[in-house]
Amino acid sequence: MPLNLFDTLSRTSRVIAPLDGKTLRFYCCGPTVYGPAHIGNFRTFVAQDVFRRVIEQGGLTTLHVRNLTDVDDKTIRDSQKAGQTLTDFTQHWTTKFHADCAALNLLPPHVEPSAVAHIPHQIRMIEKLIEGGHAYATPDGSVYFKVSSFADYGRLSHLEDRELKLGASSTASATDSDEYTKDSLADFALWKGKKADDGPNHWPSPWGDGRPGWHLECSAMSLEYLGEDFDVHGGGVDLIFPHHENEIAQSCCATHGKFAHHWFHVTHLLVDGGKMSKSLGNLYTLEQLGERGYTPVEVRYVLISGHYRTPLSFTLHSLDSARQALQKLAKFDKALREVTSLSGVISGTTPGPFAGAWETLSDDLNVPGALGDIFGIINKTKPASLTPDEAKVTLEGFHFLLYALGLQLPSLVEEATADVPADIAELAEKRWQAKQSKDWATADVLRKELEAAGWIIKDNKDGYQVLRK
Ligand code: AMP
Ligand code: ZN
Repeated sequence: MPLNLFDTLSRTSRVIAPLDGKTLRFYCCGPTVYGPAHIGNFRTFVAQDVFRRVIEQGGLTTLHVRNLTDVDDKTIRDSQKAGQTLTDFTQHWTTKFHADCAALNLLPPHVEPSAVAHIPHQIRMIEKLIEGGHAYATPDGSVYFKVSSFADYGRLSHLEDRELKLGASSTASATDSDEYTKDSLADFALWKGKKADDGPNHWPSPWGDGRPGWHLECSAMSLEYLGEDFDVHGGGVDLIFPHHENEIAQSCCATHGKFAHHWFHVTHLLVDGGKMSKSLGNLYTLEQLGERGYTPVEVRYVLISGHYRTPLSFTLHSLDSARQALQKLAKFDKALREVTSLSGVISGTTPGPFAGAWETLSDDLNVPGALGDIFGIINKTKPASLTPDEAKVTLEGFHFLLYALGLQLPSLVEEATADVPADIAELAEKRWQAKQSKDWATADVLRKELEAAGWIIKDNKDGYQVLRK
């Protein structure tokens, strides 16, 4: 079943098939390593991980490149604030990022190049752009890309004439004092001449000491590891403009290739209706959620449970629902294993009875639809009534889907408390508290209320259990 994926550039869903017929070459803009990644960032990385898993489950090999932005305004600013070298500072946050990725069960990219380790590649690309008449140096030792030299500029973001006045001569000093020497407002920096604020963070170049502009690293590193033409490029929607637009301009003007042939953008994770972002301070990290008792797989479940092209509002309640859903999956797994006597890792090679869910997933990575299909099958399957062979096929198909979604099942919580709805759990807790304070009358009323709703309470020496009647 080939994967159909929406392409931001053509605004259509297109079949994903490797350009070279063998390996799907895939570039993702990675994190800026200047603090912990938040779960909004991880919405994008997890969606990219599901994409890769679905491609690989479909029988293709992938070459996945995801960069580390370890030099830019923010990394330089915050390393200085922390009194650390840029290398030590970015290494610390890279290690933290890797730990979070592993906890979220993200497959590591095959290549993870960093901007600092590719300064010569970036300088070479600037030289090509200058040679081709697409870039120019300015007296302060910077180099700018000349946007008016690339007729296709703005196609990805449908910029048209909306915001840009190509070629407009600049008197931009009031709005952007750093870049006052540009020919046009739209031109962007490929190389930033050294400034006092940069401290020791500058490298030699034909235009003087400085550092690369942020957009350049992805063009230079995708060229190095994936070539002039490659299959898919991904990132969050905030990168469409200007970052990806600028990457296209740089790459198409420096090479003879067409750069990425398919653009995969993930819509934002929201909090209170706004984008979760570090600058707004409305973020959650994996660590903060861990302190509240939530596990990485619960976070992953929430992040994939909304379609990647629809904004997803994050709430703590959604993590509680994820916990219940994962318990239901784990219970089904256990029941099937009991019939088959299989244990350990199950690696299914076909979706079996979950073919419908696999088909849904292959239609623009419709994870919520596929989860709905999976629960549909679970609800109508009675593992105990299957033969061992039937249970084996079902278990393997189930794990084929779980692998594609990257969901590792949690251990099963005591049967008695696993499926208790929140309102019942709350009543039971109130009754327990009433009993603790020897308010027998209230405890009795609450017990009757629970019984009327179909639940009984079993007290023991450490607490109580809530069971179905
Ligand atoms: P950064 O570390 O800021 O370079 O971002 C890393 C990735 O996270 C990029 O692909 C961003 O587009 C993406 N991203 C940032 N904020 C969010 C969010 N709230 N929801 C989804 N993706 C995001
Ligand atoms: Zn990029």
